[in-house]
Amino acid sequence: MSKVVVIGAGVSGLTSALCLLQLYTDRIRELTILSSEWPGDYHAHDYTSPWAGANWASFASKDQVEQIQRDKASYLKFRQLAKKEPESGVKEYTSKIFNLKEHGLPWYIEQDFVDDIKIATDAELRYRNLDPALYSGFEYTGFTITPNVYNNYLISKIRKLGGKVKRVPRLNDITDVVDVVGYLPDLVINATGVNAGKLLKNLEPEELKKVYPVKGQILQVFEDLPFQLMVDTLPEEHKALPYQFLNIFPRAEGGCIIGGVFKKGDWTNTVDSKLSESIISVCKRHVPELRSASVYNSYTALRPGREGGVRIELSQYAIGKGKKLNVVHNYGIGGAGYQSSYGSAMEVCLNASRVLGSPLGQCPFKL
Ligand SMILES: Cc1cc2nc3c(=O)[nH]c(=O)nc-3n(C[C@H](O)[C@H](O)[C@H](O)COP(=O)(O)OP(=O)(O)OC[C@H]3O[C@@H](n4cnc5c(N)ncnc54)[C@H](O)[C@@H]3O)c2cc1C
Repeated sequence: MSKVVVIGAGVSGLTSALCLLQLYTDRIRELTILSSEWPGDYHAHDYTSPWAGANWASFASKDQVEQIQRDKASYLKFRQLAKKEPESGVKEYTSKIFNLKEHGLPWYIEQDFVDDIKIATDAELRYRNLDPALYSGFEYTGFTITPNVYNNYLISKIRKLGGKVKRVPRLNDITDVVDVVGYLPDLVINATGVNAGKLLKNLEPEELKKVYPVKGQILQVFEDLPFQLMVDTLPEEHKALPYQFLNIFPRAEGGCIIGGVFKKGDWTNTVDSKLSESIISVCKRHVPELRSASVYNSYTALRPGREGGVRIELSQYAIGKGKKLNVVHNYGIGGAGYQSSYGSAMEVCLNASRVLGSPLGQCPFKL
């Protein structure tokens, strides 16, 4: 029987914790989540999970087989939650995506993986001020996930399975975990998002360079929209910023959030008012339904980027006196933390089996 500590209470840590408790029912004696921020906290823009869209629109390219597998597993999980557990905050929504024709169709449309696929008509493209000679579009049934509802739903499931939660000040080094809990855990899950590089600066200094923020900026409006909408590459006439795009996610409780931007390497928390003006004008141009949208809030948050993509693997660190710290990492997922959360957590479980033994629960996929 093992003692497991999960560091991080974002969607990556919480989903990993829940899946571990569900799969290793008879192997885990105690699972504790330690984190400096928790669902319900909105004071830290580097605690990413509360600020997300959050939708499902896989970014994986056709050759990123592992990422496709993670995203597929999560789509199937969200479909099940939306139908059977609406209290999870996961709701089915039509997603409309438009892009330049030269970018082609994503894997999930080509493979006919998602539900209810329809190709956009030229009439809709014209209605949305997109030139049918240059742009194409499609729609399918995706999801809207209300972050705070979903993450609290995960915590309630974790607690029901005996998991413990504890707020702690930010750890300086991953090995501090031993002093904080007062014992050497059999397994640690490192799900510390954009701060993961700092936590590993002594053991793996190269990770400090690899992990980087990707700043996002969001506007909130009161008006509703009955679908999600994304334009990945904006028409040149907008003179938008090079890293700007349009995405609109309605909220289950009403209103929409509108983005956005992918600004690599920017750690700041300042709202750029010029960018806000550009975001709302781009939105009004392509979404006539929101022509009179009224903005009531704007914010920024940092996606946890990493050179080489998400890191999900086991590390065994020597920490003196013949002792070692077993750590399975799950950080660096960038802008895809929700849409791949379940698949990533399953991969954490597979890696954990090298420490905990074979899972007793059923693992839905193998790598
Ligand atoms: C504007 C925006 C829109 C987005 N939209 C989407 C979307 O539509 N779909 C999607 O899939 N994803 C989306 N994302 C991305 C998604 O939000 C992230 O990928 C995801 O939240 C990352 O979760 P995480 O658990 O890895 O990290 P985080 O949520 O940042 O969690 C890290 C946790 O670790 C804790 N922690 C960190 N350092 C320490 C330390 N030293 N000591 C103790 N605790 C520590 C923190 O307190 C926190 O609890 C969006 C992101 C942004 C910014």
